[in-house]
Amino acid sequence: MAPDAVTVRRPGEPEFSRAELYDSLTGLPTRQMFLYLASFALARLAERPGELAIVKVDLDRFHTVNDTLGHDVGDEVLREVASRLEGVVASDDVVARFAADEFLVLLEGEAVDLRVKSLTERLLHSLRLPVMTSVSRVFVTASFGSIGASDPLADLGELLVNAGVAAAVAKQRGGGRLEPYRESLRHGLIARDHAESSLHLALERNEFEVHYQPVLALTDRRLVGVEALVRWRHPAHGLVLPSHFIHTTEVTGLIVPIGAHVLREACMAYSQWVSAAEAEQRAPIADVMEVNLSARQLADAGLVEMVHNVLVETGIDPYRLMLEITESALMTEPEDALGVLRRLKNLGVRLAIDDFGAGFSSLSYLRKFPLDCLKIDKSFVDDLTTSPEDAVIVASVVNLAHALGLEVVAEGVEDENQLAALEATACDMFQGFLYSAALEPGEFVERAMAESESGR
Ligand code: C2E
Ligand code: CA
Ligand code: CA
Repeated sequence: MAPDAVTVRRPGEPEFSRAELYDSLTGLPTRQMFLYLASFALARLAERPGELAIVKVDLDRFHTVNDTLGHDVGDEVLREVASRLEGVVASDDVVARFAADEFLVLLEGEAVDLRVKSLTERLLHSLRLPVMTSVSRVFVTASFGSIGASDPLADLGELLVNAGVAAAVAKQRGGGRLEPYRESLRHGLIARDHAESSLHLALERNEFEVHYQPVLALTDRRLVGVEALVRWRHPAHGLVLPSHFIHTTEVTGLIVPIGAHVLREACMAYSQWVSAAEAEQRAPIADVMEVNLSARQLADAGLVEMVHNVLVETGIDPYRLMLEITESALMTEPEDALGVLRRLKNLGVRLAIDDFGAGFSSLSYLRKFPLDCLKIDKSFVDDLTTSPEDAVIVASVVNLAHALGLEVVAEGVEDENQLAALEATACDMFQGFLYSAALEPGEFVERAMAESESGR
C-alpha cells in the first residue's frame, strides 16, 4: 500500500518556514499565517459559540507614495503603519499583512462589532499624525471593510473576499472610513465595475466625440469662441450626454485619458479651421477654442506636459486655447490649483473659471489665480429676468471680473429676455440654446461659415 500522503499538522506545529509565517518587512504574520489562525478561530466557534470578525485594512492612494517618493519610502511608511495598527488592537487580536498595502485583523470574543468600530476610529486617529520618513512627512489614510461570522462552517475564503468587497466600497466612498459587509454592497460595486469597464471599452473603441457650442459677443452676436463638449456615441443608446458618465470617469480616473482625447480632438479641429482660413485668406471661424478640465485632471501630475504635447502636435497658437476649470474644482485645494494654473499659464494658454457663482470662491483667490475669463453659471442666467437679486448679482460679478481684468461669458442663455437683461450689464459674451446647442463638427463649421457670409 502506498504511504499516506496526507501530513497531519497539530496546532502550533505548522510545517511552514519562518518566511512564510512572518512578513520580512513589517514582522507581522503573513496571509498564510493569518489563514491558519483564522481557521482555528472558526473551529473554536463550534466548541464555544460566539463571534469573530475579520477586518481588511487597505491604505488609500498608497501607490502615489511609491510612485512619487519611491519604494524605499513606501516601505518605511508600511512599517510605521503596521506598528500603529498593532498599537491600536487588543493583545488577543491578530494583525497580519495581507498584501502590499493591505492588512487583516482578526477579532474574537464579545461585542466584535463595537470593537471593530473602535479599532477603525483609533487607527484613523493615529494616522492623523504624518509618518516621518527619511525624505518627507507622509499623510496616510485607510479604508476598512469588515465581516462577522458566528458559524464555524463559514467559508474562510468567502469571508476574506467579502471583507475585501466592503473595503473596496469604503475606498470608493472616499476612503478613511469603515464599511461593514452586507449583500447590497456587492451590487453597487458590480454596477460601478460594469460602468467603468464599458467606459474603458468606449475609449478603446473611440466612441467619445467632441461637439462644439458657439460663444458669441454680446454686442453684435458675432461668433467669437467655441466650447468643446464631449459626447459618447453609444452603439446601442445613441448619443449620451456627459451628465450620464462624466461623474464615473472622474471617480475612476478615466477622465484623465478621456480629457486628453477631447483636448487633442478639439485642438486638431481648431488647427484645421485655421489652415482652411489661411488657404481662403479669411479669419478663422472662432478666436478661441474652450476645453473643460475636471478637478481630477487638475490633480494629475502629467496634465501640464499633456497640454504642452497637444499644443506641439497640433501646432495651434497656445493663446487660441482656453482651459475651463470649475470654481468648485479650483476651490477644493486652492494652493495646489494655483501651482498648476501658473504652470499652465506659462504654456501661454488662456484660463477660465467655469460655473462661477455655483461655488464659494474667496475673492482673494480669484485675484491670485492667473485667469483670463469668468463664466457665469447658468443658474444665475435662468433667474435673470425674474429675480431682481440675481440681476444685481450678475451685474456686480461682471463689474468685479472687469476690475480684475477678466472677460465675462454668460452661460445657458435660452431666451431673448435673458439676453436683453444681460445687455443691460457690461457682460462680454454669451452662449446658450437661444443661439445654438453644441453641434457636430461638420454642422458647426457650416453654421459658422453661413453666419460669417451673412455678416459680411
Ligand atoms: P459646462 O462646462 O458648464 O458646459 C455647458 C453645458 O451647458 C453643456 O452641457 C451645454 O450643452 C449646456 N448648455 C449650453 N447652453 C445651454 C442652454 O441654453 N440651456 C441648457 N439647459 N443647457 C445649455 P453638456 O455638454 O451636457 O456638459 C455638461 C457638463 O459636462 C459641462 O458643463 C462640463 O462640466 C462637463 N463636460 C462636458 N464635456 C467635458 C469634457 O470634455 N471634459 C470635462 N472634464 N468635462 C466636460
Ligand atoms: Ca465649460
Ligand atoms: Ca459651465
